[in-house]
Amino acid sequence: MIRCISPIDGSVYAERETLSADAAQAAAGRARAAQVAWAKRPLSERIALVRTGVANVGAMNDEIVPELAHQMGRPIRYGGEFGGFNERASYMADIAPAALADIEIEDSDAFRRVIKRVPHGVVLVVAPWNYPYMTAINTVAPALIAGNAVILKHASQTPLVGERMARAFHAAGIPEEIFQNVFLDHQTTSDLIAAKSFGFVNFTGSVSGGQAIERAAAGTFTGVGLELGGKDPGYVCDDADLEAAAETLIDGAMFNAGQCCCGIERIYVAEQHFDAFVAKAVGIVQAYILGNPLDPETTLGPMAHKRFAEEVRAQTGEAVAQGATAHIPTFDADDGEAYLTPQILTGVTHEMRVMREESFGPVVGIMPVKDDAEAIALMNDSPFGLTASVWTKEVARAEAIADRIETGTVFMNRADYLDPGLCWTGCKDTGRGGGLSVIGYHNLTRPKSYHLKKA
Ligand code: NAP
Repeated sequence: MIRCISPIDGSVYAERETLSADAAQAAAGRARAAQVAWAKRPLSERIALVRTGVANVGAMNDEIVPELAHQMGRPIRYGGEFGGFNERASYMADIAPAALADIEIEDSDAFRRVIKRVPHGVVLVVAPWNYPYMTAINTVAPALIAGNAVILKHASQTPLVGERMARAFHAAGIPEEIFQNVFLDHQTTSDLIAAKSFGFVNFTGSVSGGQAIERAAAGTFTGVGLELGGKDPGYVCDDADLEAAAETLIDGAMFNAGQCCCGIERIYVAEQHFDAFVAKAVGIVQAYILGNPLDPETTLGPMAHKRFAEEVRAQTGEAVAQGATAHIPTFDADDGEAYLTPQILTGVTHEMRVMREESFGPVVGIMPVKDDAEAIALMNDSPFGLTASVWTKEVARAEAIADRIETGTVFMNRADYLDPGLCWTGCKDTGRGGGLSVIGYHNLTRPKSYHLKKA
C-alpha cells in the first residue's frame, strides 16, 4: 500500500495499492505488445496526440493546484506546474521531426546508407514528488513521441499525478497500454528491470535510489538515465548586480521550500560585497510568509514530509553547534515538524554537512571568497555536479569560469531553470543521462544503421 501523508496537517491524503509482481509483469507485457503498432503510426500523429494530452492536463489545472498543495505542500499562489510542463512538452514536440530524422549518408545507384533512430520499446519513468509534473514530462513526452510505450512509476508522495496524466493522455487518444501509470514498490521495480522488462529506464530522484536502479539493471544492458541530487552553488563575482543576484539566488534556494534538484544550496560572494549581499538575502527571507499552502497569502509552504524537515534541522543545528551563525529567528508558523523556518547561515565551512550534503530544504550557507580561483575550487569541492550559477557582467568571464566548473549546467545571471533546448544532465554523484533537447531524443532511441547495396 502506498500512502500519501499530506504535509499540511499530517493526515492521510491518498492511498493506493501497489501492483503484485505478476500484475506488474503483465502491465509491461501489454506495453511491449502494443508498442509495435504505436511506433508504426506517423510521427505527426504521435506528436498531435501528445500535444492534446498535455493540453488536457492544462484543462485540469484548477483541480491540480490545490491537489499538489495537499500532496507535497507547494503554495497555491504559484499556480502549479503547467507553464513548465507545457513549455517542455511543446518544445520537444516542435523539435521531434528534426531530432528523429534519418541521417542520410548516401542514396546513389549503388548504395542506400542511412542511420535511423528507433525506439527502445518500453521506457520506465521513475519520477520524484518535488516537481511531479515537470520532472515526469521531461521523459514521458519525448519517449512517447519517439515511438516508445511508457510506464510511469510516480513517487508515493504524489500518487495522484500519474493518474491525472494517464487520464489526460488516454482522453487524448493515446492507447491505455502505451501510457500506463503504475504503483510499484521498490523491489518489484528492481525485479522488473532485472528481468529486462524495459528498453530504457529514466530515474529522477536520490543518489541511493539511482544506485539501486543501476544495480538492478547491471548485466541487462538496459539503458539507464539517472538524474540525481545536487548541492548547487551560486557565485557572486565582484562586478555582479547584487540586487538581482540576491533576489534570484535566494529564490533559487527557498522556492518550493528548497526542494528543487537545482536549488541553490551554497553561495560564494566576492568578499567586498559579502555583508551587503547577506543583508539583502536576510531581508528577502524575513519577508516570506510560512504557512498553509492553501492560503493564497502563503509564500512558503511546509516541506513535503516532516522527515525532510528533520534532516534540514539536523544539518542546520550541527552547523550552528560548529560555529555558524543563523540569521533568521524562528517563524511563528514553525511547528517543529514539516513547517520549517527558512534559514541563512554564515560562518560556514566545507567541514559542515550543510555545505557538503544535499539539504533539499530552505537553508543556504553563504561564504566570502577572495577571487575566481577560490570560488571555483569551492564550487568544485562537492560530490555533486548538477548546476552552478555565476553572477557577473562579463560573458567571457562567466564562460571561462564555466569551463572550469564540474557540473552539467552553468548559468550566468540566472538559476534554477530547465531550458528545454539545452540538455538536462549532471556529473559526479548527480548521475548520468541527458534529458530534454535533441540529446534527450538520442537517449530515448537507439541508432540503427541500414547498409543497402543496390546491385
Ligand atoms: P527518491 O526517494 O529517490 O524518490 C524518487 C523516485 O524514485 C520515487 O518515485 C521513488 O519511489 C523512487 N525510488 C526511490 N528509490 C527506489 C528504488 N530503490 N527502487 C525503485 N524506485 C525507487 O527521491 P526523493 O527524495 O523523492 O526526491 C528528491 C531527490 O530527487 C533529491 O535528491 C533531488 O535532488 C532529486 N531530484 C533530481 C532531479 C534532477 O533532475 N537531477 C530532479 C528532481 C529531483 P517512492 O516514492 O515510492 O519511494
